[in-house]
Amino acid sequence: MSLTTPTSTPSAPAHRAGPLLGFHDVAMTFPDGTTALSGVDLTVSRGEFVSVVGPSGCGKSTLLRIASGLETASAGVVELATDHIGYVFQDATLLPWRDVQGNVELLAELKGRGVKARREAAATAIRLVGLAGFEKHLPKQLSGGMKMRASLARSFTLDPELFLFDEPFGALDEITRSRLNDELLKLFTEQHFAGLFITHSVAEAVYLSTKVVVMSGRPGRLVGTFDVPFPMPRDPDIRFSPEFAAVVGEVSHALKEAHS
Ligand code: ADP
Repeated sequence: MSLTTPTSTPSAPAHRAGPLLGFHDVAMTFPDGTTALSGVDLTVSRGEFVSVVGPSGCGKSTLLRIASGLETASAGVVELATDHIGYVFQDATLLPWRDVQGNVELLAELKGRGVKARREAAATAIRLVGLAGFEKHLPKQLSGGMKMRASLARSFTLDPELFLFDEPFGALDEITRSRLNDELLKLFTEQHFAGLFITHSVAEAVYLSTKVVVMSGRPGRLVGTFDVPFPMPRDPDIRFSPEFAAVVGEVSHALKEAHS
């Protein structure tokens, strides 16, 4: 199964200048007193794919939840220049009684889009993620990778300018994960969204991203920023090069320093 170019692309929202997402000295202390984030400065602009690496519990999901508006920061300023946001979780969160078509239509349905508009948006998104032919399959008939494709397609129906990914491939086997990494990169270069991607895997972060940021332990702060020097579209073989290994080494070293 591979990605195909859609016959019609979702209508792109009007472009605006400046970052799509800006965190300025953002902190998050929960009502129980747990401080998950402290002094976070981060921007994500159009054309950028930013990965955040850090161990469990350092505040990565909290960062994403604040970016999506699900959570409100307790201090600092969060600027969001778009309301076209896609959010993909580690769990594909598909409704078991709905087939692929029904699941992919769900967000557009919840947004109140008419039947025809959401059918068309879903059909385009399903083609985009390479699930054409599987529209009538129920989640239990899909592999883990296919479920994640359906989850991605569901978000694509909202024409995201900014895509938030919370370890979407963390539960997949290595081969499926690698294939989905390639396909996500292809979507990124073709669809022009900005990405904020959370992962435990430094190699995945470097391969997918234009920029990788390293988070300290809780309360999470950004302790290192690495521009990834490899051009887009990215050659999959870059992963086996000494240059790639050198960048992975630098980021891994920063991560180790932050947690030793
Ligand atoms: P990560 O995604 O890096 O694993 P999280 O952002 O999920 O980390 O959580 C960061 C810290 O904040 C953890 O210690 C977690 O237990 C705590 N936390 C997350 N959500 C809440 C909440 N609603 N109330 C209290 N503590 C929370």
